[in-house]
Amino acid sequence: MTTAPAALPDPTDPFVRVRGASEHNLKNVDVDVPRDAMVAFTGISGSGKSSLAFGTLYAEAQRRYFESVAPYARRLLQQLDAPHVQEISGLPPPVALQQRRGAPSSRSSVGTITTLSNLLRMLFSRAGDYPAGADHLAAETFSPNTAAGACPRCHGLGVGHDVAEELMVPDTSLSIREGAIAAWPGAWQGANLRSIVTGLGIDVDTPWRKLKKKDRDWLLFTDEQPSVLVEPEPGRIDHGYYGKFWSARKHVMNVLANSTSERMRERAMRFTRSQTCPECDGSGLRPEALAVTVDGLSIAAVNALPFTELAEVLRPLAAETDETREVAARISADLVARIEVLLDLGLGYLSLGRSSTTLSPGEAQRLRIATQLRSGLFGVVYVLDEPSAGLHPADAEPLLDVLDRLKAAGNSLFVVEHDLDVVRRADWVVDIGPGAGEGGGRILYSGPVAGLEDVAESATTRYLFGRERLSDALDHERRTPNGWLHLRGASRHNLRDVAVDIPLCVLTAVTGVSGSGKSTLVTQVLAEVVRRHLGQSPDDPDDAQLELEVADAAGLESFDRLVRVDQRPIGRTPRSNLATYTGMFDAVRKVFAATDEAKARGYGVGRFSFNVAEGRCETCQGEGFVAVELLFLPGSYAACPTCHGARYNPETLEVTYRDRSIADVLAMTVDEAAGFLDDVPSAARSLQTLQDVGLGYLRLGQPATELSGGEAQRIKLATELQRARRGHALYLLDEPTAGLHPADIALLLRQLHRLVDAGNTVVLVEHDLDTIATADWVIDLGPGGGDAGGQVVATGTPDEVAASTTSVTAPYLARHLR
Ligand code: ADP
Ligand code: ADP
Ligand code: ZN
Ligand code: ZN
Repeated sequence: MTTAPAALPDPTDPFVRVRGASEHNLKNVDVDVPRDAMVAFTGISGSGKSSLAFGTLYAEAQRRYFESVAPYARRLLQQLDAPHVQEISGLPPPVALQQRRGAPSSRSSVGTITTLSNLLRMLFSRAGDYPAGADHLAAETFSPNTAAGACPRCHGLGVGHDVAEELMVPDTSLSIREGAIAAWPGAWQGANLRSIVTGLGIDVDTPWRKLKKKDRDWLLFTDEQPSVLVEPEPGRIDHGYYGKFWSARKHVMNVLANSTSERMRERAMRFTRSQTCPECDGSGLRPEALAVTVDGLSIAAVNALPFTELAEVLRPLAAETDETREVAARISADLVARIEVLLDLGLGYLSLGRSSTTLSPGEAQRLRIATQLRSGLFGVVYVLDEPSAGLHPADAEPLLDVLDRLKAAGNSLFVVEHDLDVVRRADWVVDIGPGAGEGGGRILYSGPVAGLEDVAESATTRYLFGRERLSDALDHERRTPNGWLHLRGASRHNLRDVAVDIPLCVLTAVTGVSGSGKSTLVTQVLAEVVRRHLGQSPDDPDDAQLELEVADAAGLESFDRLVRVDQRPIGRTPRSNLATYTGMFDAVRKVFAATDEAKARGYGVGRFSFNVAEGRCETCQGEGFVAVELLFLPGSYAACPTCHGARYNPETLEVTYRDRSIADVLAMTVDEAAGFLDDVPSAARSLQTLQDVGLGYLRLGQPATELSGGEAQRIKLATELQRARRGHALYLLDEPTAGLHPADIALLLRQLHRLVDAGNTVVLVEHDLDTIATADWVIDLGPGGGDAGGQVVATGTPDEVAASTTSVTAPYLARHLR
């Protein structure tokens, strides 16, 4: 997030004027949008909304800002690709509130994102109750992230990773020679350790459990590293050598601290578990800080309170009139005012201490929006990425009110948005299209919302003005369940002893306001129950440590597979891309290796991999770009100066198939490649399924890191569909429609219904009412978020749930079903 005081726009011209924008697929477009207004950018996925709002407007505004504050950086900035645009005038300084960029660090929390933690620490420092005789502490002493505040044992982390005996020695009936100490390295190093242990006088053929406790502890945990002369094996002529002993713990910790091999580290992690620090009870704070209280609560206790309860604690303090309590009253009043914005936004179930890694993107964005509201900035442009994503319609209202307040304070709002209720509230809409990729990139309309109705070419207008509905696009009969999965006694987070029945062989939508427990139920409890039944290992190693909190589950035998199609990236490095992820690239490489030219030169399949030294560009090691060192702009990249993004060395590129090099193929869109590779069956099948889910505009070589969460999710779905067979699989999807235009939602739903028709069961966490209306079955959770939720409020067909008198979702759904 960046803010800028830089050169202000001409106040007599109320427009931001863009001329000749051609970033990505934009077709040299001109567009004028008003300042001090809410402008919505609409269009189907891949049409060019982000390329205009983020890639052009935000990128240019940010570039100007950096130039004005850091002239020395100009040369470096020139290496970066400036947005392709001839001219932009009237641009205010920007603040981007994006959802997906940047991995949150595990040390940041709700309190740090909102900056509320600073105020709270001040409250404890200046107005807390101290034990008799204790000195007042500086505010920073109440932060686990400072040297002054951190618990000396866990260094402020609140948890420690340590080895666990039962993980290191899973089978105590084995002897050391038989591999009792699973945590030790295998192969040569393991044999070496065995020789050393023998040299130390411990028998490696005794079953582990029969060894002396003292010896077992020493072997597993000691820090001592005696050197032992290892005698040569009988009959060998070498002289023996000195070997150093490593206890299992020392070995594991050494791998974790020093190994560069991801595989080794992952293996080592399996022998450890994270444990709450016993010294600070997980708060990460030193004892002196924990001894200070406000209203009888330590700062750790306050950090764990949901905002709704925290507001209750602080309100009386804020109302104090006693002069000696003036400081406490002032800070508390400020805190309460800020917390009320969070309550308005439906985030009252969150607590300050909640780690940012556990927040959904929508929750994190709303926290940042709320924080901006108090920043007092005016005359800036906020560029937002689908602020309504992940919001129940009941939660979207207050968010829109907050956006209105930002606007009223004198700011501009540029919003990339799909939710039509948000689009209707905008002052101005810029519709881009008509198609995606090369088929898009034109401005179809720019003006007040009502005027879009006359633009026949626009995919948005059909849905915005009610001429087309999702259910029309699908036309399928409501299905009846084929059986049930009965879950009883499910407890986690705010779910407490919940009983829920999930219908088989139909499409179910799980609904409810933010924080009601949808993700907990679907992506955690349900996923875990089925995963364990199938004996699959968890996607996330941390999940393995969670206790299964389900008393009884019947009906599990109906599933033979579990597929989670989530929005997590398909790869974390630019080395993975669409072609590699779907497996299609293997077929493409085979095609190149089979050409006469490749055979004549002796190039095999490996030559055409950008991960293998023979064929790739050495300057960028096959990445196509190089990192540019900009201290203040982490993760900035520029095209590789040698291969200009091609990733391969010139010799590899000389081999062509139908006049195209392998780099040319990676640069093709799915649509182009579908024509080019139509006689390569395995590639053609992948390409077809990608087109089916509306991703024809993506390039084959598009790095995984450039894909949005929604695109990643549809790629996973397409990869699934490609192997789709009649099955008894359970598909779990978390908000599959987030980030999608209604026209794209229609495509996606058609595919999901195809899976159900083939005998599978699909369960979605969903907010989009049109989507919910097309489901066979609805499970509504609530009634509220956090402690006010976690119950099954209504279940049944969409019509039955819409008739519920207790469900918050019901009235919204009823309106959509009419
Ligand atoms: P939208 O925001 O409407 O979904 P985008 O602006 O993200 O669309 O994408 C428009 C087009 O530009 C698409 O064809 C997309 O593949 C392409 N594109 C997006 N990002 C990049 C990039 N970093 N490099 C090259 N092409 C890109
Ligand atoms: P929904 O998906 O309906 O928005 P969630 O399942 O994410 O709701 O959250 C339900 C409740 O569980 C909320 O009170 C939330 O704060 C809590 N919760 C969710 N994830 C975690 C977590 N990782 N740690 C602690 N509490 C969590
Ligand atoms: Zn600690
Ligand atoms: Zn290169």
